[in-house]
Amino acid sequence: ATSSDEKAAALSTTPSDSPTIFDKIISKEIPSNIVYEDEKALAFRDISPQAPTHIIIIPKVKDGLTRLSTAEERHVEILGHLLYVAKLVAKQESLDGFRIVINDGPLGCQSVYHLHVHLLGGRQMNWPPG
Ligand code: IMP
Repeated sequence: ATSSDEKAAALSTTPSDSPTIFDKIISKEIPSNIVYEDEKALAFRDISPQAPTHIIIIPKVKDGLTRLSTAEERHVEILGHLLYVAKLVAKQESLDGFRIVINDGPLGCQSVYHLHVHLLGGRQMNWPPG
């Protein structure tokens, strides 16, 4: 998929708390390339990688955490944990520098409403991001 496909997907997705494809990845109903798992988080390779390493890190229990803009105080611990897992996975992937992204809402190009952290690396990143 191209970045314009990602944008089209984001703009055609209605933000909601409905189950997403990530629930099926957590339940292993659909296959994914899992690179890290613990009791609270799961990390797997993005199906449409935007860098040599592109990994998605998610909470195993969504607990209403569809997007960062609707996060509540009770989510603080899992939000911190997801960033810590990103660091662990970056090390596991031997990344020498990386980019963390959390897309929020249609304008932020979010297409899956189960909060997730993108870990991108393995190439020179650009700034500003698109
Ligand atoms: P968002 O655009 O920030 O919501 O990110 C969603 C990401 O999930 C995109 O980068 C997609 O390529 C990725 N994605 C969607 N479905 C799957 C899947 O079944 N396996 C792995 N990654 C997926």
